[in-house]
Amino acid sequence: MISTGTQLRADAGSTGRLVDGRRVARTVREEVAAGTARFHAETGRRPGLATVLIGDDPASEVYVRNKRKSCVAAGMLDLHRHLPAEATQAEAEALVDSLAADPAVDGILVQLPLPAHLDAGRLVARIPAEKDVDGLTTVNAGLLAQGRPGLRPCTPAGVIRLLDEYEVDLRGAEAVVVGRSDLVGRPMAQLLLGRDATVTIAHSRTADLAAVCRRADVLVVAAGVPGLVGADAIRPGATVIDVGIHRDGNGLRGDVDFDAAVGIAGLITPVPGGVGPMTIAMLLSNTLAAARGRAGRDVG
Ligand code: NAD
Repeated sequence: MISTGTQLRADAGSTGRLVDGRRVARTVREEVAAGTARFHAETGRRPGLATVLIGDDPASEVYVRNKRKSCVAAGMLDLHRHLPAEATQAEAEALVDSLAADPAVDGILVQLPLPAHLDAGRLVARIPAEKDVDGLTTVNAGLLAQGRPGLRPCTPAGVIRLLDEYEVDLRGAEAVVVGRSDLVGRPMAQLLLGRDATVTIAHSRTADLAAVCRRADVLVVAAGVPGLVGADAIRPGATVIDVGIHRDGNGLRGDVDFDAAVGIAGLITPVPGGVGPMTIAMLLSNTLAAARGRAGRDVG
């Protein structure tokens, strides 16, 4: 059990336990596959996920391919749609509208970024909240901000699952989130608040980032800056969750200087193999929750 507050500080002697995101993601996928089989037995249909890819961005193609493969592996229907890079806003909106109206579609995921001439905000706004498996619509963000049930963004939801799996006690903990994006930072802070942490959000205008981070019992870094958080920013014994992903000559690395941090943190996510695997697992979990919600069954 990782404890918070004074007990955590007293426990600061044991450092560098690694979070195994691949293992936890596998557990989530197995749970979702079992839930999907039950849903199929109960309703006679399978949850359907519609990934929407517009254009040919190679990284987006890889992400979408992995999402589709995982969806099929979990027993769900792959209802993928692809539009050419020159698709107009009206064509993209017509596609989302048709998926919104299609009863076989439980989840709609518009892969971002879109080609520059398209307005992502206007497109995402057309996804019905109950099919918004990325948790990006204003309705789902509002429900989260009010602490009410809804579909949560996958990456921050995955972080919470990791923290739970490693029994990190969030109640009353000092939590610092670095980053305030709609995709990660803001919903991450809301989820931690919902778990009774005392939450600080740091961002690109924060005056003394290291000093703010050093307050954290639980530090979640999602800044998109390789190696931004170093030894001087970590409280001994803290739980450090690195959301960042960067590819360089030596492979993948995160926003945390792992080599410096691992000897100070009590529990830490590696990159790769930490948060990354959780995102697709939580997407599958959201798709099943959306299907259950639409079928009038309990979400979860
Ligand atoms: P973003 O660029 O939308 O947001 C970055 C945030 O970090 C901003 O709010 C900004 O204020 C803050 N920031 C930037 N520079 C900073 C600095 N020097 N000090 C403090 N704060 C700073 O990025 P995002 O979409 O939130 O993603 C963040 C990182 O997480 C990226 O590396 C991205 O690749 C990664 N990511 C990983 C997953 C996953 O599955 N593991 C999912 C989504 C994003």
